Amino acid sequence: MSVIFKKSVPGRTGVNLPKSDVPVSAQVPVMYRRKSPPAMCELSELDVVRHFTALSRKNYGVDTNFYPLGSCTMKYNPKVCEKVASLEGFGQLHPLLPQLRRGGMLTQGALRVLYDLESMLSEITGMDAFTLQPMAGAHGELTGMMLIAAYHRAKGNQKNEVLIPDEAHGTNPSSAAIAGYTVRSIPTDPETGTLDIAALENTISSSTAAIMMTNPNTLGLFNSDIQKIADIAHSHDALLYYDGANLNAIMGKFRPGDADFDVIHLNLHKTFATPHGGGGPGAGPVGVKKHLEQFLPISRVVKRSDNTYTLDYDHPDSIGYISPFYGNFSVCLKAYAYILMLGRQGLRQASEQAVLNANYIMHSLKDHYHIPYLKTCMHECVLTAKKQLENGINALDIAKSLIDKGFHPPTIYFPLIIKEAMMIEPTETESKETLDSFILAMIEIAQVSKKDPLALKRAPLSTPVSRLNEAKAAKEMNVSYTEQNS
Ligand SMILES: *Cc1c(COP(=O)(O)O)cnc(C)c1O
Repeated sequence: MSVIFKKSVPGRTGVNLPKSDVPVSAQVPVMYRRKSPPAMCELSELDVVRHFTALSRKNYGVDTNFYPLGSCTMKYNPKVCEKVASLEGFGQLHPLLPQLRRGGMLTQGALRVLYDLESMLSEITGMDAFTLQPMAGAHGELTGMMLIAAYHRAKGNQKNEVLIPDEAHGTNPSSAAIAGYTVRSIPTDPETGTLDIAALENTISSSTAAIMMTNPNTLGLFNSDIQKIADIAHSHDALLYYDGANLNAIMGKFRPGDADFDVIHLNLHKTFATPHGGGGPGAGPVGVKKHLEQFLPISRVVKRSDNTYTLDYDHPDSIGYISPFYGNFSVCLKAYAYILMLGRQGLRQASEQAVLNANYIMHSLKDHYHIPYLKTCMHECVLTAKKQLENGINALDIAKSLIDKGFHPPTIYFPLIIKEAMMIEPTETESKETLDSFILAMIEIAQVSKKDPLALKRAPLSTPVSRLNEAKAAKEMNVSYTEQNS
């Protein structure tokens, strides 16, 4: 497909504007005036509409088809939440409007949304207080690590390291490192697929500031020893951090706060009605227990005795601002609408369905693909290409072949500790028919890998660009248009 400029036809136009009757201002200095007209393309409205419609159809999203990208929760986000977020009374608010008296009428609703969302998230997770400021999961992790550092500083504790399981999301060690900690990796027990508690006990020391956990972990497995891990952490005055980016398995089922987690972040742009991975805004709210509340970022939304809401900056122990104003308000609004819409029952049901769907896929594929941990999984399951590798087919070939079958590939080669991993997260919003067609595609690919493996090596054939040299594409990235690479 060519760029829009190549479609330009001299003299063609989409609108008829009258000739300007305003003289060129003499006040614009000559040096700033154009010497030649701008290089705009000349096209009809229909040309433009067709060009951009064709481009949009090359895109793939949850609105197009199944998107089982593990650890990303690419579920369908109800359009009504977008609608609520774009209501004029919210969308047109200026963040510097006064909160009370003159103009306060305009902001009270927004402040109430923030206040209520903080308490709803506290209730869902079992924490005591939340900040909505962080703008992504990783940003939430960094905020959480800064809160932990502030806590230890205030207690006079000398702590310099954070313990993280080896299957953790890559943002965990980087957030801990950016907050100034040395990261020590704790192995996963190869038998159970969960944290090796003996290794944890051997590594933890008085220098340990925190343990960062993801539960269910990135293998999709729930660690039921979590209370024991919390006790080990707290006996060394270390705090327990919960990476709650993927809350999809546990809503209404398990509250990290009840298992003595001290700090948690959530990804609203995974679990709560904002798409993840679309390059748009996100939100990574951070929840804490009472003993960390004083360190939360300012400002805090508070409810006054007359039921009005205001922003409170009087927190001398706060770690300060971690983003401008109050975070990504529109993402918070969508989460607020989504939680109210589903309610307690609905959130629980969403988790149950997400877990059921993942187990359905895992069990439907277990005769065709190697499954490293064949036991009840949570919101996602991990398969591998171990069997297909006997015919030279790896996870990448399978992923590329799925594109030709109309599906977005799952996450591959993650978690890093599983060779040839394929991490599938179907989410609760998919129908059985969709799951069945994906399962069928996976089974067909497994069959082709035995009969005609070379066919899979050529995939994808249905896309504008076929198989790229992945290393070159990353290391010699070329994203600018030239006649040659058009
Ligand atoms: C997505 C994810 C993150 C990071 O979230 P971002 O918003 O992409 O920064 C952290 N941990 C886990 C387990 C995740 O799945």
